[in-house]
Amino acid sequence: MALKITDECISCAACVIDCPNQAISEGPEYFVIDPKKCLECVGDYESPQCVNTCPVDCIIEDPDHQETQQALMARREQKGSSRA
Ligand code: SF4
Repeated sequence: MALKITDECISCAACVIDCPNQAISEGPEYFVIDPKKCLECVGDYESPQCVNTCPVDCIIEDPDHQETQQALMARREQKGSSRA
């Protein structure tokens, strides 16, 4: 499951630098997470870094983009091999 940013976002950008997958960018109204890039930090960290960083707790699970841990890990491995 990717995560998403709600309209409570204050556009502080704190999460952007902490994302290991460059999945967060500025949207038309507030910051947004690209579900194709978000891996819930699987393979990089124990927990989602953006959630840990966000000062207003506006990052939640996105029920429209659900994935198993195995699927996330498979995508993480693909990402690793494409870097090589
Ligand atoms: Fe990036 Fe991790 Fe947040 Fe997904 S959960 S947007 S990979 S920091």
